Formats: sequence, structure tokens, C-alpha cells
Amino acid sequence: MTLRKIFKTFAFSTVMAFAAISANAQDLIARQAPVDRRATSLDTIVVNRLQEVESFENPSALLYNDWSNTKTHASGTLPETFKIDLRGFHMPSPSRVVTSNFGRRWGRAHKGLDIKVYIGDTIRAAFSGKVRIVDYEARGYGKYIVIRHNNGLETYYGHLSKQIVHENQNVTAGQPIGLGGNTGRSTGSHLHFETRLCGVAINPALLFDFAHQDVTGDFYTYRRSTVDSESARATALRGTASSPGYSKENIQGTGNYSKSNRAASQTTDYSTRQTHAMTTSNGTQILYHKVSSGETLESIAEQHGISVEQLCKLNRLGRYAKVVKDQILRYS
Ligand SMILES: [Zn+2]
Repeated sequence: MTLRKIFKTFAFSTVMAFAAISANAQDLIARQAPVDRRATSLDTIVVNRLQEVESFENPSALLYNDWSNTKTHASGTLPETFKIDLRGFHMPSPSRVVTSNFGRRWGRAHKGLDIKVYIGDTIRAAFSGKVRIVDYEARGYGKYIVIRHNNGLETYYGHLSKQIVHENQNVTAGQPIGLGGNTGRSTGSHLHFETRLCGVAINPALLFDFAHQDVTGDFYTYRRSTVDSESARATALRGTASSPGYSKENIQGTGNYSKSNRAASQTTDYSTRQTHAMTTSNGTQILYHKVSSGETLESIAEQHGISVEQLCKLNRLGRYAKVVKDQILRYS
């Protein structure tokens, strides 16, 4: 039953119920006004509740044509402007490292942001919503998840090693949905994160600031006329500075790294390794450190023979920023 039908049925039965109470014909006219008022306030409560239920069952129904568990990219009519409510967000990963930007990359459009994560790292739902797709795409997203949220957005999480939610499951913001990985068209463990509105990819950097683990504001107003220029600005502000050096899904070397690492030491678990290297196509080595509990900016800088200032600058951190366990820091 659609909301409108429920509403009509409800309004009709409410009036009939009140009419039945005041069955006495003379009283009916006298009582009509208060009955109407009563019915209106009841309607509002019931309709609000029904709207809540409907958005729970079918989030953002007004923006999308359908609810499909098979069509990777949803269709809908993208409005000229649309205000996206970012409150109630949760960062998909505590990683502050963006390894590849949204936009054109070697002739191919990159429809999301690449975030440095390790195999086995927890990936979380960015907002509350309903899981639309849990699938595998060997030549693309790998193991991926699509969630539709009540704020109109759909978020995509690609290259996962494991999916831990199922289709049509309701999730809350911050709920673990999968584990970071290196599946699909990817040459090193990372999270490919997309934000789409009516199937159209918009730069996640317009909404999320991974370096600062925050959203860009309480709301983001999408405007078709200005989104491209805003997107370029967001990349300049929040993207990776070294993006031109990347050729493929950004990271090379880490896939093989795990094998050689295992060969060298059978007891070292890949997912718990503290440091990691990746080589860009122009041969530059970028090294990462995964923070263990008890470590500080000072101890990490010392470990890698750089100054705390250098470490802060590389990771766009304030000098007195606190680091947390599992955070990933670049140190070269
Ligand atoms: Zn990507």
C-alpha cells in the first residue's frame, strides 16, 4: 500500500469513526469543527509515522525510479539543485590518506575517491540507510556494497575483502559493513568510495574531508550548474597532491608485497603489518605506517627518521594532533 493510499484510507476511516460516535444527527454539525481539528492533528502524527516507515523501507523513494538489487547504478531524475543532509554521518574509514582523486585519470573517469586502507580494516556505513547491492565485479569494483540513504545519496564501497551485510538490510551510520581489501580492478589494498545522487557520481571530497575525518558542513547543496567547479576546488583542498603520478587504481606493489613478506617471514600477518610501501607509476615510493596503540607522532617520526613537523605536514595534521590506533600515516 502506498503512503497516499494509506493516508486516504486513514482519513476516511477517522471521519467515519468520529461520525459514528456522534451518530446523533443534531450533534453532528455542532461537533463538526472540533472533529476536523482532532482528525487533522491525528493525521499529522500518523502521516509522519507512515513517512518514517516508508523511508525506512524505501529510502529516498521520491528521488529514485525503483529499488533494484541488480542494477549497479540507480536511475532517477537528478534535480537542478538538491540539498543533502550530512548530519548523522560516520567516516567509512579512520584513514586520512586519499591516494587517488575523483575525476579524469589517464583518459578514464574515476568516479570516486581512493582511501588507503589495509586488508581486513573495518569499513563502515557513511550514513544510515538500506543496503541495495552486495555483489562482485571481477573487472571493476571487486567485492562491493551499495547503500541508499535517507538523505538522497547512495554510497559505494569497492575492492572489499569481505562483505558482512546483506541486500535489503537496514544499517545505521557507522555500522561495520565489510573489510578493506584488494579485489577487482585494484593493484593494492584500498577503499574505492563513491557518492552518487540519482546514479550520478559526485566528488566525495565535496562532502567528506578524510584528512580531517569530518564532513564539509551540515549540508551540501548540489547545484548542477556549479558542481564541476566546486568539485575541482574540493580536490585542490582535500585531494591527494600526488595524484598525477598514479596510473591505475593507484597503488602498485602492495599485492606482491604480501607474498614476498609471507615468504620472508611465515609468522607475519599481512593485515597487521605496521608499514607499507606503494610505488607510483613514476617510480616514487610512498611509505605508510599503521598506528599501534600507545604510539605518538613523536615515536612514529623517530621510528622512521623524520621530524614530527615533516610527519604532520605529510598527513596535514596539526602539530599537537592525537593519533589513534589503526590510523594510517604517510611518512615519505
Ligand atoms: Zn578508485
